[in-house]
Amino acid sequence: MTTSLDNSSGSAAEEPAAEQPLSIARPEPRSAEESQAALRELAQQARREMDVLGHNHDWVPEQPDGAYNVLIIGAGQAGLGAAFALQRHRIGGVKVLEAGPESSIGCWDRYARMHTLRSPKNMKGIELDIPSLHTQRWFEAKYGPEAWAATNLLPRLDWHDYLAWYRETTGADVDFHTWVSAVHAPTEPEGMFTVTAEQGATEGQKTTVTYRARRIIFALGLIGGGSTFLPPAVKALPDHVRAHTEDAIDFAALKGKKIVVLGGGASGFDNASAALEAGAGEVEMHVRRSEIPRQNSLRWMEFPGMQEHFYDLSDEQKWEFSLFNGGLPQPPTQAAVWRAYAQPNFHMKTDTRWASAEYVEDGSAKPVRITTQDGRVVEADYVISATGYTVDLSLRPELAEFLPDIALWSDEFAPAADGHPLGKCPYLGEGFQFQAKSGADPEAQEYIPRLFHFSTGARASHAVAGNQLSGIYGGLTRMSRRIAKDITRENWPAMFEEFKAFDYEEVGSIGEHRPGVDVPYPQGPRY
Ligand SMILES: Cc1cc2nc3c(=O)[nH]c(=O)nc-3n(C[C@H](O)[C@H](O)[C@H](O)COP(=O)(O)OP(=O)(O)OC[C@H]3O[C@@H](n4cnc5c(N)ncnc54)[C@H](O)[C@@H]3O)c2cc1C
Repeated sequence: MTTSLDNSSGSAAEEPAAEQPLSIARPEPRSAEESQAALRELAQQARREMDVLGHNHDWVPEQPDGAYNVLIIGAGQAGLGAAFALQRHRIGGVKVLEAGPESSIGCWDRYARMHTLRSPKNMKGIELDIPSLHTQRWFEAKYGPEAWAATNLLPRLDWHDYLAWYRETTGADVDFHTWVSAVHAPTEPEGMFTVTAEQGATEGQKTTVTYRARRIIFALGLIGGGSTFLPPAVKALPDHVRAHTEDAIDFAALKGKKIVVLGGGASGFDNASAALEAGAGEVEMHVRRSEIPRQNSLRWMEFPGMQEHFYDLSDEQKWEFSLFNGGLPQPPTQAAVWRAYAQPNFHMKTDTRWASAEYVEDGSAKPVRITTQDGRVVEADYVISATGYTVDLSLRPELAEFLPDIALWSDEFAPAADGHPLGKCPYLGEGFQFQAKSGADPEAQEYIPRLFHFSTGARASHAVAGNQLSGIYGGLTRMSRRIAKDITRENWPAMFEEFKAFDYEEVGSIGEHRPGVDVPYPQGPRY
């Protein structure tokens, strides 16, 4: 298959260096009044389109005692998109719980420290076929159509602001400052899950609250399949001299310091740049490979067959693909590389593997001493570990009660039982639902598929994890269809009884129309 990308440009070597932007500034907005008026009008237009294309009446019964039909944990792009996808199916009783404040959405103004998204700007996504909800329309309303045409990759903070507008326009019902600590299984057949959360903006205000729901979507972001990954040598260092890229890092406190960034992916480059731009004295990046990878396999995957139908392949095909794709490293973006190299105190060391790292308490100027496998000793003030994430459901506290019953690839597909890390991915169903292990008791067989994993562990079953923009349209479509299907099946007996008792007369009078007695009779010729 040939893949062509609208955003592609010539190779870096062909471009005159002076014309390369070293940082991508946010486009100049239209005047505040003009862009706000345009965004208000766009929101109204989007709501009109939702009405035109929407189902015309509710159909899902309310749950008893204030329980929700669906509880979504996490209000990033995945959780908000899930809430909207359910709304498109006219499924009410949906609540989203979000640990963070209303002002911050997902990772985008926290640990995502790049200037732009890496995803192409022109993909189908969380607008779910409502044109006026698409990022392009939002961007054009805010900056003008010329700015969209001139923008290659979407500025990160614009994506954040778009998500805030999307959240408001789609009317997602979110409880903020609500961190879910545990989820409990139903205590009676076909019953509700109970969710425990700590709610409150500050420590002193926090209270424990509970929610009950028939189904739960876990949309926790990159940690959702397990956790951040810290190599043991980094983990052994005390907290005040090390961080993972997902942590809140006080870059101002690193002014003048020597920092070692471990890992040469996108986050490694972004954090190196963020540190140097905040005044760090020097950043040395340590990369195990001999070269920084250049190919991005995600770009190949962005076509409907892959995004929406990978799940429909056989287990053998899915596993073969996952093994191959799992061995392909993700490169940094071109802009991230240029941004770091624009700083004279940035140095990258390839072929550099750590043998050990120790915290030195002998009063030396630099408290971290790293020894590489080839015997080099590097002293540093601080280590930022750009080492990604691990998929291991046993690390998720909210899944603890369900873990023994959740089917993993290693349980269900013999070749995945050889200890390969991908075997730890959950063996998900067509709509991202967890599935119960073959030996699970009948209660668990019933309720486990009412839990949905919309996060990193989905990749073995669905290839693009669903929550990432490369696969989010297909993921949301599949998950919401599956939930609508389940609701129909489980309510069918009551629905059929309702049909049998259905009493709606469309024809009120048999005979000639009686003006003033019957409803008006339209005189149009085609009536
Ligand atoms: C440097 C960098 C560049 C990236 N570039 C791209 C890109 O270009 N395109 C792309 O698609 N992806 C990109 N990503 C990946 C990106 O992080 C994910 O695709 C995206 O965040 C997924 O959205 P999400 O809603 O699943 O997760 P998030 O945006 O992380 O949102 C998850 C939400 O869940 C909340 N939450 C977590 N635990 C709980 C809990 N227990 N209780 C309540 N709430 C909870 C969090 O507070 C958070 O708001 C990038 C990531 C990084 C770090």
